[in-house]
Amino acid sequence: MELEASFIKECAGRVGFHACGIAEASALPDFDATLQSWLSHGYNADMQYMQRNADKRGDPRLLYAGARSVISVLVSYKPIQTVEGPLKIARYAYSVDYHLRLKQMLFELIAEIKKRYPDFSGRPFVDTAPISDKRWASAAGLGWIGRNTLLVSLQYGSFCNIGEVVTDSSVDKYDSQVENRCNGCDLCVSSCPNQALHCVDGRYMLDATRCTAYNTIENRDERLPEGLHTGGYVFGCDICQEVCPHNKKAPATVEVEKEKIEKIQRLFDATEEEFDAITKGTPLSRINYRQWLRNLNQGTPSRDHPFSQS
Ligand code: SF4
Ligand code: SF4
Repeated sequence: MELEASFIKECAGRVGFHACGIAEASALPDFDATLQSWLSHGYNADMQYMQRNADKRGDPRLLYAGARSVISVLVSYKPIQTVEGPLKIARYAYSVDYHLRLKQMLFELIAEIKKRYPDFSGRPFVDTAPISDKRWASAAGLGWIGRNTLLVSLQYGSFCNIGEVVTDSSVDKYDSQVENRCNGCDLCVSSCPNQALHCVDGRYMLDATRCTAYNTIENRDERLPEGLHTGGYVFGCDICQEVCPHNKKAPATVEVEKEKIEKIQRLFDATEEEFDAITKGTPLSRINYRQWLRNLNQGTPSRDHPFSQS
């Protein structure tokens, strides 16, 4: 079945996605070599799962038999409000768990497409399956992979969640990859307090072992690595994104309730019960109370020097 690409994009807009692009399903050029190089440097830290299904990450035809197209979608999460308080937390933590929200939106997108194409079938993916969301979003023309190793959209920057629907249908018009607009900028690389962004054979890579975002969330050890500079972050880290000129000019899109910000900031001195209640259903529930206390004690937040992020 061949679908009209403009109709798919209209459907994505109706569902609430900020952007949609479509790429032909094939093996992503260079993907395997880049992944193997990243793994061989040990930059995946404890993320052993990145070694599994490496072939499927760059070729959705191995994940979904008969796949012909990848419909990539993006939703910005840059908050409208200024966030203030003692706790420095990555911006995405103020929204609902994006895995759930995006998955639901992808099912709605499939339902919209089926209104015109009842036989349409597609499989939605968000982060958890072995498919490289950002590389496919780039292949579908939604942006380029910046030196911060994230997808950067010309309009929405990198504060975005990405997902995709892989389908066995083709479309009448595929999108092309957009050119890299980092244009000699090096701000993300030079701003990282841990020198976690490296250029290897002309490609920028994230060394997760040195990254605050990885260590405050995925790392389950008793202690954060010796010498890790958290910049005060206690969950995630946005330093290499905050400095990006494309994020500075990107529109704020998400209104976060003041009560929600205040509630999350109350985690400063929460008991375990309060922690579980406040973080339930939010991205913060990815860590447990023991990790939270570890991050708090080593991330040095302070009521005397509150954090402000606009
Ligand atoms: S998230 Fe923070 S620690 Fe990780 S690469 Fe970016 S600036 Fe560096
Ligand atoms: S900060 Fe500069 S180098 Fe880094 S992703 Fe943004 S534009 Fe590219």
